[in-house]
Amino acid sequence: HPRRPRAFGTTVFAEMSELAARTGAINLGQGFPDQDGPDSVREAAVAALRAGRGNQYPPVAGVPELRAAVADHQRARYGLAFDPEREVLVTAGATEAIAATLLALVSPGDEVVVLDPAYDAYAAAIALAGGVRVSVPLRPERGAFRLDPAELRAAVTPRTRLLLVNSPHNPTGTVLTRAELTGIAELAVEHDLLVVTDEVYEHLVYGVEHLPLAGWPGMRERTVTVGSAGKTFSFTGWKIGWLTAPADLLGAVLAVKQYLTYVPAGPLQYAVAKALRLPPAYFDGLRAELADRRELLVAGLERAGFGVFRPAGTYFVTADIRPLGERDGVAFCRALPDRAGVVAVPSAVFYQRPELGAPFVRFAFCKRPAVLRAAADRLASLG
Ligand code: PMP
Ligand code: GLN
Repeated sequence: HPRRPRAFGTTVFAEMSELAARTGAINLGQGFPDQDGPDSVREAAVAALRAGRGNQYPPVAGVPELRAAVADHQRARYGLAFDPEREVLVTAGATEAIAATLLALVSPGDEVVVLDPAYDAYAAAIALAGGVRVSVPLRPERGAFRLDPAELRAAVTPRTRLLLVNSPHNPTGTVLTRAELTGIAELAVEHDLLVVTDEVYEHLVYGVEHLPLAGWPGMRERTVTVGSAGKTFSFTGWKIGWLTAPADLLGAVLAVKQYLTYVPAGPLQYAVAKALRLPPAYFDGLRAELADRRELLVAGLERAGFGVFRPAGTYFVTADIRPLGERDGVAFCRALPDRAGVVAVPSAVFYQRPELGAPFVRFAFCKRPAVLRAAADRLASLG
């Protein structure tokens, strides 16, 4: 059994951003906004730096202001109550939250059930923990990638320790429905499984509601919920994330996390605390802006001849290249900068069974409208 999965090579995001830089192509590969988040949040970081707030090691669990802001956000938005002292942990991005959680909760040989496709850091974190990745496919049908609760159930064995879920989902843009989430929750309770739910795109939903898994009956005590300022406030370079979990689980995660990074940047934690208290208009505005950009990219991809899965969430669109007479997304993405001056990510890299993802490619739409229009014009020449 290989100790070092493919995810330990160069990440696809680094490779594709490098390709964009080298060829001058428009980068719709790596998911990062091409405009920074709110000035008030940036200025809060500057103010914290100047005032000497957080310039020395902050508390290992995160600055109290940020832990309180995360708890208040979960209560105000979802009616979920977490004790900021014992049930909120600040991490170096969602990436560290996921890695520390799996290292803390998964023992060698434990099975971890994940969706296929899945964000690439999951496979690496499972492997680091010595766990076994067991995948349940999201099936492309009628315009969206959907989870079959029966297939999920069939993946659970006596060795299953944990379900690792992600909604809104990268790379497909799927937002799990109430029925799908109920299926996950019932299964977890029935088999007494732990659940890690990556909800970094919680605010990026279009015409549907984000429903946190921790809100289902019997779930709060077994669920670790992961969030990130990178997505919600468009500061992906800050790497401030967090998790909420019952105190016993959180204590186990903290014991690992203290030896990974100890803490992430102090002054930025104060700024994110302020950001989480922005008025609802901020979150609505972000969503409305991205909804428009989603339409721009979807229309452009349809015009270019792709089969398009219109995403209900995230800032990614999955496109099917078969209508263009193509089959291999990896080859397609390698050639795309030369053929059309655009960079996309082959979905196959997110799959445990890459053949399931071969005909799909992922485009990011967290870019200025002019950039999306230019990309759409370039792609129109593919046909
Ligand atoms: N989870 C998902 C689903 C993501 O898409 C990303 C970032 N693209 C992360 C986690 C990592 O977030 P962070 O940058 O906060 O570590
Ligand atoms: N999560 C981002 C994406 O899916 C990239 C993060 C990274 O580059 N590590 O594009």
